[in-house]
Amino acid sequence: MSNSTTADAVVIGGGIVGLALADAWLARHPSAKVVVLEKEDRLAAHASGRNSGVLHAGFYYAPDSLKAQLTRQGNQLLHEFCAERGVAVRETGKVVVAQGAGELPALRELFARGQANGVELELIDEGQLRELEPLAQTHGLALWSPTTAVADPVAVVEALAARVRERGGSVLLGAEVTGAGPGLVTTTDQRFSAGYVINAAGLYADKVAHWFGVGEEYRMLPFKGLYWYGSWAPGRLQRHVYPVPDPRNPFLGVHLTVTVDGKAKIGPTAIPALWREDYGGVAGFAAGELASIARTYPSFFRSSHHDVAGLLRSELPKYSRKHLVNQARALVPSVVPADFKIKGRPGVRAQLFHLPTRRLEMDFVFQHGDRSTHMLNAVSPAWTSALAVAKYVVDDIDS
Ligand SMILES: Cc1cc2nc3c(=O)[nH]c(=O)nc-3n(C[C@H](O)[C@H](O)[C@H](O)COP(=O)(O)OP(=O)(O)OC[C@H]3O[C@@H](n4cnc5c(N)ncnc54)[C@H](O)[C@@H]3O)c2cc1C
Repeated sequence: MSNSTTADAVVIGGGIVGLALADAWLARHPSAKVVVLEKEDRLAAHASGRNSGVLHAGFYYAPDSLKAQLTRQGNQLLHEFCAERGVAVRETGKVVVAQGAGELPALRELFARGQANGVELELIDEGQLRELEPLAQTHGLALWSPTTAVADPVAVVEALAARVRERGGSVLLGAEVTGAGPGLVTTTDQRFSAGYVINAAGLYADKVAHWFGVGEEYRMLPFKGLYWYGSWAPGRLQRHVYPVPDPRNPFLGVHLTVTVDGKAKIGPTAIPALWREDYGGVAGFAAGELASIARTYPSFFRSSHHDVAGLLRSELPKYSRKHLVNQARALVPSVVPADFKIKGRPGVRAQLFHLPTRRLEMDFVFQHGDRSTHMLNAVSPAWTSALAVAKYVVDDIDS
């Protein structure tokens, strides 16, 4: 071990959540020594750079959840951050459309949740939908969310790392943490004596937490998100178009989003993945992970809390591009497979699974350990919510 460094706080993982936590720690303790350790040699290599870049509004979530509390606030903070750092945001808004009369009660429920969560939201009719997004179709009613927007996720992460560094923090790339416990973190070539450790290791957050004896009742299940870009002229699709989600599962269903430069894309899927960084091919393959995940999925498959059979029936066929694109046609009838052939960069969702109850955790989950805090379930929309989550967690640590 070549050298040893002392820090007030060491953050494991330099995704948006780890960077936001370092940023919030430095905002509160400006003279603190804060080090972020990121195993990759570039920023945003995983979920924080491989997502849709949608700034969610915060209306999906149960009013008593952390997601409800922190997404509306996170959307506002991220808008302010992007304005401050000159990161482009496209104010697309979003429509949620119904595919039949049977979905209208759930659409009204989403509207009620939005109101309970203090999110600006409107129930609109078919004529109003045509004005907002002429390409979308609904059945009777749709929801209009004006505060949903989009940004380039990689640009946001890079801008946040720059702010952490300007505040005096260090963001070390190529620094894989190989072991940690209260007061001590080791990478392949460095040792850190840490006043406090924050685990924001995304897909590996459970593994890191277990080193501290925290979260042993949890395992991470990875779900792969595939995307297909359209060849349409930028700006042809103006709004994000989403279906009414199935409340029993934590994913939002196939949708169309607009990128910050106006391109239309379809996805992401939520297909069970075989190892954590399973982006396709064999890159990142880890036989040990495959074995452990293969042991955990059967327990999930027997869960009575989720519509697992329905999830598998709907998700597995989405490996087929044509099938996926045809699903999106129910929302936007002019979508055809011939126009959506450009493969996007896939992402993998780090979805926390509670072994004793066989439940996928739907809300953000963090736990404190000895001189440490562990972000165990930084699921979507944690990219939107990161700045609010970080402030909340740092306040909680200090209280
Ligand atoms: C397909 C997809 C679409 C999504 N769409 C949206 C969206 O539109 N809007 C939204 O708000 N959210 C979205 N999300 C969710 C969002 O991307 C995540 O909630 C968020 O990025 C989580 O951030 P993170 O920092 O926890 O994870 P990550 O970005 O995965 O960061 C964790 C980091 O830890 C590092 N790491 C792991 N182990 C170690 C170790 N031992 N040592 C050092 N470093 C380590 C990893 O390399 C990684 O960089 C989406 C997610 C996916 C997968």
